[in-house]
Amino acid sequence: MRRRGRYGTLPSRKVTQLNLVQLRTRMRSSASTPGTGSGSCGSHVLEDRAARAVRYLRVSLTDRCNYRCTYCMPDGHQEFGPRDQLLRLEEVVRVCGAFVRWGVERIRLTGGEPTLRRNLVGLVRELTALRGEHGPIEVVMTTNGQRLGDLASPLRAAGLHAVTVSLDSLDPDRFAAITRRGRVADVIAGIDAALACGFRGTKINTVAIRGFNGDELGATAAFAWERDLIPRFIEIMPMAGGELFVPGQLMASADVRAAIAVQVGGALEPVDGAPVGGIGPARYFRVTAGAWRGRVLGTIGAMTENFCGSCNRLRLSATGQLHGCLAHDDAGDLRAALREGGVERLEGTIRAVLGTKRDGHGFHLDGSGGPDKAMISIGG
Ligand code: SAM
Ligand code: SF4
Repeated sequence: MRRRGRYGTLPSRKVTQLNLVQLRTRMRSSASTPGTGSGSCGSHVLEDRAARAVRYLRVSLTDRCNYRCTYCMPDGHQEFGPRDQLLRLEEVVRVCGAFVRWGVERIRLTGGEPTLRRNLVGLVRELTALRGEHGPIEVVMTTNGQRLGDLASPLRAAGLHAVTVSLDSLDPDRFAAITRRGRVADVIAGIDAALACGFRGTKINTVAIRGFNGDELGATAAFAWERDLIPRFIEIMPMAGGELFVPGQLMASADVRAAIAVQVGGALEPVDGAPVGGIGPARYFRVTAGAWRGRVLGTIGAMTENFCGSCNRLRLSATGQLHGCLAHDDAGDLRAALREGGVERLEGTIRAVLGTKRDGHGFHLDGSGGPDKAMISIGG
């Protein structure tokens, strides 16, 4: 069952001035104290009530996909109906521009499959032109890689900083089975096209699934290392009311690391100091021996190695719903705020979302406690 955003009907104050820089100044002076439950857009950075600074916005461009990954997309997933429910690209730019002025430094385009959105290249060009307080922002994208062969070069030319490509298996049959329609050769060609046109910092994301790819995690890591990429292994999460979650499939990050250490012939040790590849939910480890000694991989363990305390992100769905947390259905309706209100209503909606950004997720290992919405609806 889908619920409507909780903040869709926030009262809007009279809009007198659509200058967002001035708005920021006003917001700064009217900042509420973090932790009081009302959130704050008032300083240079967006802060939630737990004083977690929001530097990172994930923007879903569509809930459509050319794949049907078994853990992500319910079989009968209803794509959104009328086109006007989708944020128009100029609205995406307006919202992102506001967030950048309020301290967001990195925008990740995602979906659904973001490469299916028409005029993606033009959008990237506009987003990479945004300037934050510390200069240009970073615009990056997560993709299944199927269309990257054609798009890597124009996206690079448009200023996209980096891509993360999802790749759950190197075996063509397994890959076709998990994606229910993908061709792994196309994805590998897409990754190689991204490298050829100069993308740096490319990451490979693999959902670790016991009984499916547990025996090839080391090979996937090696595939990435051969290309100087960083492999990351993600714990499966129970989205969509747990409908797609098979408890036995969850492979804890500790088990992932243990399996990879055996498969690549070298123990793993935590990487000291600053996180590799940016601040985010991944924990990074280095191989200490064997042929891949010195190579680094990441694990993302939402289920067993909770990182909610350092969460620095908000998520904007393709229909303009702003989610403070992937694991909860609550959302603020930025589309309505933009179309019916203006900047002050936008501020109010964001403030409400920040004020109720959850302390943590409610996922349980048995698959309960997640949101009713699917990953593809919120934006992964
Ligand atoms: N279509 C793009 C892709 O696959 O990279 C972007 C969107 S996808 C929702 C983003 C990431 O979420 C992918 O790496 C995917 O593997 C991951 N994902 C989807 N459903 C998940 C789940 N239930 N648990 C953990 N990761 C999931
Ligand atoms: Fe599509 Fe990405 Fe979800 Fe797979 S994980 S169904 S590629 S959105």
